[in-house]
Amino acid sequence: MRTMELKTKLEILADAAKYDASCASSGAVRRSSLDGRGIGSTEGMGICHSYTPDGRCVSLLKILLTNACIYDCVYCINRLSSNVRRARFTVEEVVQLTLDFYSRNYIEGLFLSSGIVKSPDHTMGELVEVARQLRVDHDFRGYIHLKTIPDAAPELLADAGRFADRLSVNVELPQRESLQTLAPEKDEQTIRVAMGRLRTHIDDTKDARRERVASSLRSKPAAAPPFIATGQSTQLIVGADTSNDRQIIGLAARLYASYRLSRIYYSAFSPIPDASKRLPLVAPPLQRESRLYQSDWLLRHYGFSVDELLPPERPHLALEIDPKFAWALAHPEFFPLDVNRAPREALLRVPGFGRRTVDRILRSRSVRAVRSDDLKRLGVQPAKALPFVVLPDHRPKGNASAVLRNTVARLNPAKAMQLELYA
Ligand code: SF4
Repeated sequence: MRTMELKTKLEILADAAKYDASCASSGAVRRSSLDGRGIGSTEGMGICHSYTPDGRCVSLLKILLTNACIYDCVYCINRLSSNVRRARFTVEEVVQLTLDFYSRNYIEGLFLSSGIVKSPDHTMGELVEVARQLRVDHDFRGYIHLKTIPDAAPELLADAGRFADRLSVNVELPQRESLQTLAPEKDEQTIRVAMGRLRTHIDDTKDARRERVASSLRSKPAAAPPFIATGQSTQLIVGADTSNDRQIIGLAARLYASYRLSRIYYSAFSPIPDASKRLPLVAPPLQRESRLYQSDWLLRHYGFSVDELLPPERPHLALEIDPKFAWALAHPEFFPLDVNRAPREALLRVPGFGRRTVDRILRSRSVRAVRSDDLKRLGVQPAKALPFVVLPDHRPKGNASAVLRNTVARLNPAKAMQLELYA
């Protein structure tokens, strides 16, 4: 068989990787340089972005090692039965591409995933070898995110963690039954065991580091070898099965608690060519993906519970309004809050107040009372927050929900209809 050009492989395998959302490019403003102007793209093909622990945004070469696969996950364009053009990089090709792109300043790291060829161990072995060659043979200091194959041998996962900054094990479908139907070769238990192993490794490494810091008081110890410094993540596909938002966010809460994931990526299912009849014909609205991200954030950083965001009687997130706003409208008894007296946890629930804003308010009010003129300076969106708060020179007239409903109805009738659901 004639050897395929490297450029052709790159086209095929960068395009095939765009279906994997588990690097942080989703949510970015869509930009492209296909019109010949500018450099780079956020279109999810070829280059994606991720964030280092210190908050730096890095560009990653996002590719598959191969889009051939012996599994037949119904929702995946690379499945065994899919009629797509196949390509496969060698380990050395991926290493060289990464180094070339890196030396030209196109990228700061690599996001590498793969279809499964020959066996899970064989494929995982090749992924690890790419990372090993980059780190050990070429002293590559850039960011590496590897996708892991849950059925691969534990030793391979452990090796992957030594070389990569982040590993992801994709849960994919929120319900066990969906996984059985749509990805019959995958097994929920195996995925959980792999995530559990990574968590144990991460915890052990942290313990070892603490131990070394403590013993450094006595002697100077060698640095503990790192293990996926930015932690593990996973991806949930939204809209390929019948899971509602409560099931998805409920699962996310359990995954964060059980495996201390750094992040969960929500990827709206996109219909694929020659799709199975078991799949929906249309993609879910992209706004659903964005509302799930907002709920996930509220869960992790704002003290909301799954039941508060998605009570059993309302298992879907509103698309027109953000989940914090929806919660506030459903809880008029909680408002208005006195900005100068309320505790931090309560202020975090005010629409228009972010974490930094709340911290600024707390600092500011320790010096003098915060007034409505101060809000903008402190980073608040006054139109959003004022109906929910009391200040020395401001008190909302009437019920906060009614005030907001009227304001929103004037600005956006479609949004107003959604708000009625939260009456
Ligand atoms: S194992 Fe991965 S690449 Fe293979 S068919 Fe399933 S989702 Fe696609």
